[in-house]
Amino acid sequence: MDFKHVTVAGSGVLGSQIAFQTAYKGYQVTIYDINDEALGKGKQRIAVLPQHYIEDLGANEQELAAAQQRISYSSDLKQAVEQADLVIEAVPEVADIKRDFYTKLAAAAPAKTIFATNSSTMLPSQFAEATGRPSQFLALHFANEIWKNNTAEIMKHPGTASEVFEAIVQFAKSIGMVALPLHKEQPGYILNSLLVPFLEAAQQLLVKEIADVETIDKTWMIGTGAPLGPFAILDVVGINTAYNISAGKAKATGNELYGKIAQMLKTQYIDQGKLGRETGEGFYQY
Ligand code: NAD
Repeated sequence: MDFKHVTVAGSGVLGSQIAFQTAYKGYQVTIYDINDEALGKGKQRIAVLPQHYIEDLGANEQELAAAQQRISYSSDLKQAVEQADLVIEAVPEVADIKRDFYTKLAAAAPAKTIFATNSSTMLPSQFAEATGRPSQFLALHFANEIWKNNTAEIMKHPGTASEVFEAIVQFAKSIGMVALPLHKEQPGYILNSLLVPFLEAAQQLLVKEIADVETIDKTWMIGTGAPLGPFAILDVVGINTAYNISAGKAKATGNELYGKIAQMLKTQYIDQGKLGRETGEGFYQY
């Protein structure tokens, strides 16, 4: 399988980054979004990325300008995918929006086109049927700030063809990612399967008043040699996201400990504007 043209659907936070990184590595990229206003916002996101590549990677300005030149924009789905070897979907994390998108994409894309979802929390089998081509569909999950956090978790659903899986592993490498293959479906992929329970355990120690933030982090860092402890990681993730996870689990399970964690995050952090690194303060000050 030889990929030349890649279409990225959705030009939000992740879609814009995926599109730019793919173009930076030499592919022709088309960005699809629902209308000109959304595409305009996508263009603004793309416009600020080169500065990050210069600061974080020491990238060359000419190469960055060439990457911009390889990107085109369209709000016409048929036109956006007519040459696509691969469509990477980064539309909102809402099952109905994704299903509706795949139904339309199935009708618009050529038979050869492979589809990949960047969904963080959903499984490809949820949409496999809607794609009309389950064997050519899988998950390709990037991390925010793709140019430096360059993981690509590649996950099959039971119907994904093995040659499609292999082709996407190679594609991920070709755009500068560290390819991380998952041979079976797993909610949360590898990273969040490890990280979510770890962060939860730390927050439980805190709300049970076993130890304070600094002591818990110090224990982890000295004990394992890790550069950050769980609360420093929570500051990077953002306290809102941590709150949404615990509040959601409190509601779903009725487990009182999740309720306590959610309440602690809300009253001691969110209500005081301490949302983590992006606001200059969370569990720590920056
Ligand atoms: P976002 O809200 O920033 O962007 C979504 C984009 O999709 C917007 O540009 C919106 O106009 C567009 N859109 C809406 N409906 C559409 C449709 N029907 N067709 C095409 N485009 C449509 O969202 P995001 O944070 O970039 O997340 C997108 C996907 O990437 C989600 O599945 C999310 O789970 C995943 N993801 C996000 C992150 C992250 O840190 N933000 C990290 C990894 C994966």
